Amino acid sequence: MRVGHGYDIHRLAAGRPLMIGGVQVPSEQGAVGHSDADVLLHAVVDAILGALKAGDIGRHYPDSDPAWRGADSTRFARETAARARDAGWEPVNVDATVLLERPKLAGHVPAIEQRVAECLDVAADRINVKAATNEGLDAVGQGRAVACHAVVLLARRHR
Ligand code: MG
Repeated sequence: MRVGHGYDIHRLAAGRPLMIGGVQVPSEQGAVGHSDADVLLHAVVDAILGALKAGDIGRHYPDSDPAWRGADSTRFARETAARARDAGWEPVNVDATVLLERPKLAGHVPAIEQRVAECLDVAADRINVKAATNEGLDAVGQGRAVACHAVVLLARRHR
């Protein structure tokens, strides 16, 4: 077994889509970033890469590379899951916590879990997404940023 942890944060601004786990969440503000700024998928990718001892998302998808401008982060997640399988590892489960003051994410969580499961090619019951606020504290709490923590477990594939 291997465990990995990922963390990501993006600023929020008007005029950007808010992508969370490959789902566009209706919001007055969206996340700012070089790619589509999907904080959940970026944290999941970093968690998988960490479990694989394969560095971090910035190494594989540098924001200095124009190829990733506006990129769909589901691609990063699919490719990273494939990288894990190529290395002999299977994703067992993901547990993630998204920190966002508004809008409330709870109603979107089932769709987000389904989408993340599709990206990693695992059953949806292996993906758990929790939505929390920062109780009005710091940049997240003041509605200026969205952050995410993710933990992933990988198991050796049976050959
Ligand atoms: Mg990011």
